[in-house]
Amino acid sequence: MPAKSSITGDGGKSCPSARAEPGNLLIGVVGGDGIVQPLPTRLEIDAGFVEQASKSGVPEARFRFGGRCVEGKCKQWTGNSCGVIEKVLTGMADQNIMPVEHLPRCVLRGTCRWYSQRGADACRACVFVVTDHSAVATADA
Ligand code: SF4
Repeated sequence: MPAKSSITGDGGKSCPSARAEPGNLLIGVVGGDGIVQPLPTRLEIDAGFVEQASKSGVPEARFRFGGRCVEGKCKQWTGNSCGVIEKVLTGMADQNIMPVEHLPRCVLRGTCRWYSQRGADACRACVFVVTDHSAVATADA
């Protein structure tokens, strides 16, 4: 039976730094320079992808995935927003990392939590984000 997509278009928001889980979307590939290359087309992953990708280490260190934002079930939820993008933007400012000029093409933008929270600033920072596995642990995990 095909996995149920995490991004169902039911009005919920999407997490742009989700786990490699069947039903989530592959939204980017981390390049050799550490910068994420966004994928412009929607690509849902299945258990086979997760199994293959896990053979070479933690998939979240080499790819970016989009999934459902679970809000209060995620330890990054501050109560009314996602703490990750706020930390990313603050960290970039502190380290004088220049945001990219153009918004990347992105399949998540219509539902993205970060975009809904910080708009284009989130997208200009997004390619610098490599998901830390510990950062995506849910509160009930
Ligand atoms: S922050 Fe912008 S570029 Fe990144 S996943 Fe969300 S919509 Fe896409």
